[in-house]
Amino acid sequence: MTTIFSKIVKGEIPSYRIAENDRFYAFLDINPLAKGHTLVVPKKEIDYLFDLEDELLAGMNVFAKKIARAIEKVVPCKRIGVAVLGLEVPHAHIHLIPINSEADISFSRPKLKFSEAEFIELAEKISKEVKL
Ligand code: 5GP
Repeated sequence: MTTIFSKIVKGEIPSYRIAENDRFYAFLDINPLAKGHTLVVPKKEIDYLFDLEDELLAGMNVFAKKIARAIEKVVPCKRIGVAVLGLEVPHAHIHLIPINSEADISFSRPKLKFSEAEFIELAEKISKEVKL
């Protein structure tokens, strides 16, 4: 079954794209816990993160690091928190979330709302800071 993230990667469903290379794709989470909440996914459709081959998993983390560095430049925060759940979408992904406290990365918190224009502006700003 094609996942919603595969459709996003292929451009069949729109996303607020941050960056991509031949193996990975980063885009803003549509229901963010914080401004700049970003998802990093492998283009290859694999459900569980720890089923990725070692080299792909390592590459995904290096790609995520570059995205995190770009988010930090745009969204003031203490750190970029990293989370892996995968309970909703069966396509491996890493959450990158700007945080100032432990509570900022609690998934039981209400999600933030942004307008389309705000998402577009934020994605463009972060995207410009990415150095792959
Ligand atoms: P998880 O699988 O890690 O439990 O949660 C999936 C995450 O993907 C959630 O944070 C949710 O907001 C996000 N998400 C689900 N569908 C879409 C979508 O169509 N577009 C975007 N940008 N994010 C999505």
